[in-house]
Amino acid sequence: MLEIDILTIFPDLFEPFLDTAFVGLARREGAVAIHTHDLREWASDRHRSVDDSPYGGGPGMVMTPEPLIPAIESLAGKKGSGRKVRVIVLSPQGRPLDQERLSDLSAGPPILLVCGRYEGIDQRVLDLAVDEEISIGDYVLSGGEIPSMVLIEGLVRLLPGVLGNPDSIETESFRGGAVLEGPQYTRPPIYRGLSVPEILRSGDHAAIDDWRRKQALARTRDRRPDLIQSRVRDADCTHENEKSRLHHDERLHDDLHHEE
Ligand code: SAH
Repeated sequence: MLEIDILTIFPDLFEPFLDTAFVGLARREGAVAIHTHDLREWASDRHRSVDDSPYGGGPGMVMTPEPLIPAIESLAGKKGSGRKVRVIVLSPQGRPLDQERLSDLSAGPPILLVCGRYEGIDQRVLDLAVDEEISIGDYVLSGGEIPSMVLIEGLVRLLPGVLGNPDSIETESFRGGAVLEGPQYTRPPIYRGLSVPEILRSGDHAAIDDWRRKQALARTRDRRPDLIQSRVRDADCTHENEKSRLHHDERLHDDLHHEE
């Protein structure tokens, strides 16, 4: 069972999120244990303050080492080789989150997510108590709570038994950092004059698979050529499955070029 703790000054923000849809289901079924902790419980002064003005001047406030470090240490232990919990701060300065990182984290040790607020966190907290910083994209939000939810939702759906159909993990976008998923259709067969592509109704599964792969590759080349380039850059990867998949993609890529 994956264990996730969340340290935040706004635990209420998580309530409906943690009880709804896959995340709620996964918790009820025991695939994941998720607990929120109010940082102010570790604050000792009368105002239960967690922030102070920045040294050197400038706008806004910065989260102080007290009570953050004692809170992290009481939930995760002291930083070092003996610590069993991975402490992650959500931060626009962190490494951008991707599907591969989610997949690693879903298999990994317990996680403590630390949500920043204000102008961010005193550097000494990051140095003394944090293992990793993760960003959810190149834009700035007001707090780490929604980024934490992004990470949790991405993680929970990878846990065994949580997603109704495990095949959908295999085929969807970013599987192994590869390609985007192609277009999808459901009933009705014709809507406002637009028909579902004939091949999807043909029942010919091999042809459908081939069509889907071509669509996926064409869409990726069109919208996210960087994904294909980074795959080619990694072409000397040692993993055999990866190599053969890449080879397959390259063949499709050539097919597409011939079709043009
Ligand atoms: N002044 C900081 C930004 C602070 S935003 C800077 O320039 O780096 C306040 C908090 O929101 C951060 O501490 C972080 O926890 C969260 N946050 C904002 N944008 C984020 C992003 N893109 N990814 C992850 N966390 C983010």
